[in-house]
Amino acid sequence: MYDANPLICHLRAASLGCEDALFATRPGADPVSYGDLFAGAERMAAALVSRGVAPGDRVAAQVDKSLAAIQLYLGTVMAGAVFLPLNPAYTDAEVAYFIGDATPSVFVCDPSRLDRLQVVAGAAQLLTLDAAEQGSLAELAAAQSGFDPVARVPSDLAAILYTSGTTGRSKGAMLSHENLYSNSLTLRDYWQFTAKDVLIHALPIFHTHGLFVATNVALLSGAQVVLLPGFDAEAILAAMPNATALMGVPTFYTRLLSDARLTPDLAANMRLFISGSAPLLVETHEQWQARTGHRILERYGMTETNMSTSNPYDGERIAGTVGLALPGVEARVTLDNAEIPLGEIGVLEVRGPNVFQGYWQMPEKTAEELRPDGWFITGDLAKIDDRGYVTIVGREKDLVISGGFNVYPKEVEALIDDLPGVLESAVIGVPHPDFGEAVVAVVVPTGEGTDAVAIKSALSGQLAKFKQPKHIALMEELPRNTMGKVQKKALRETFAQLFT
Ligand code: AMP
Repeated sequence: MYDANPLICHLRAASLGCEDALFATRPGADPVSYGDLFAGAERMAAALVSRGVAPGDRVAAQVDKSLAAIQLYLGTVMAGAVFLPLNPAYTDAEVAYFIGDATPSVFVCDPSRLDRLQVVAGAAQLLTLDAAEQGSLAELAAAQSGFDPVARVPSDLAAILYTSGTTGRSKGAMLSHENLYSNSLTLRDYWQFTAKDVLIHALPIFHTHGLFVATNVALLSGAQVVLLPGFDAEAILAAMPNATALMGVPTFYTRLLSDARLTPDLAANMRLFISGSAPLLVETHEQWQARTGHRILERYGMTETNMSTSNPYDGERIAGTVGLALPGVEARVTLDNAEIPLGEIGVLEVRGPNVFQGYWQMPEKTAEELRPDGWFITGDLAKIDDRGYVTIVGREKDLVISGGFNVYPKEVEALIDDLPGVLESAVIGVPHPDFGEAVVAVVVPTGEGTDAVAIKSALSGQLAKFKQPKHIALMEELPRNTMGKVQKKALRETFAQLFT
């Protein structure tokens, strides 16, 4: 029964006996009760098992966000299998790598790509599901009835999520049942989610933020979600008067701020705005408070660790920080493998039940990043203050070393962002014949008048010479991925030849 499958048991507990309670409302589609959600998930599980999916098998899905896609996730876990979501934007060649690496027994794709993906599916059986919840998987599931979730233990895998692979091949992060339910339980309690909440769910569900933080926390609370296929300012603003919470990436907030309809009245029913997956500018935090009366709660995590730190719900939410280590999670900062004093910048490490089981079929990579005593080396540069608040200063790989000196991009970016006429900036290092790397600032102007000369002269009094950008480029916008992360690798490639 449900009890035998740890993750499903937890996700189901809050709604047991309340099958009529509403799980989701959807634009242009019927509302869905918790009973409907889990009945559909059971049919998905039965459909997968009818195709030979066995415990431990991977089920890959490159599908649009929909209720059926959430049921496919739950059904996969019910079947004792391992859910492997893939970004619909991945090309056939990228999909070929994931399928070859993870060797799923079933691969669910959009019907429009069936012919092309057949070629890369290998031994995986191909099923289809589209945004309107039609396709061969939907047909197969409709013909099934109930399903008893397969017994698993907490350390068994429930999902593999591939990292975005900013250097080299992306790696499959193996997440156990316990990794997922322990983190979602912690977040539910820390953020005080209950069955009274209505969460605006506009994040993609191929990523840890939308799939685990948003979906699992809602399920564990028995809360309602407004299920949107993606970011849609109109739909989010329309949902706000009857909603209580929004989880978003920083770009959600900057885009919503540009809409005049965002007012304290519109947000009067809301109790919580959460941001993560990329740094939230202090300025955005302040503007949001001025426009809505709410202080955004910023949290930090990654595919490998689920969520690790969060600003407090009741305590002080400090803009520019990602808050405190979550209950049950430890955080420390190291340099050359040794812990360093509070306030100093080094590599952030975290330990706790949230930390993954390692990289799929990459024992060497796992050994490089996951210490035998459980500390995971995040690759993020950070400092922790004496109250325990963590500030992320960037990825270790994005650190610029110019003439032998370390330049932390965030320090330079924060100064540039504060200048008049600047919307935002990204600081990168590019090859330089004398300095090894030179600091380059890519700046997005607001249009109210600034230029490279003005920025350079404003910085000259504020920054040591080695930190000052050797070149300032103006751009209309910064390249970002779907989670709102600035693609510094792409910028480094664009400016690679600048000094050579
Ligand atoms: P992903 O595995 O795609 O979730 O990416 C994780 C990375 O996103 C982290 O290692 C950080 O570099 C970054 N990240 C996530 N949340 C935040 C945040 N609140 N502030 C700054 N960076 C963040």
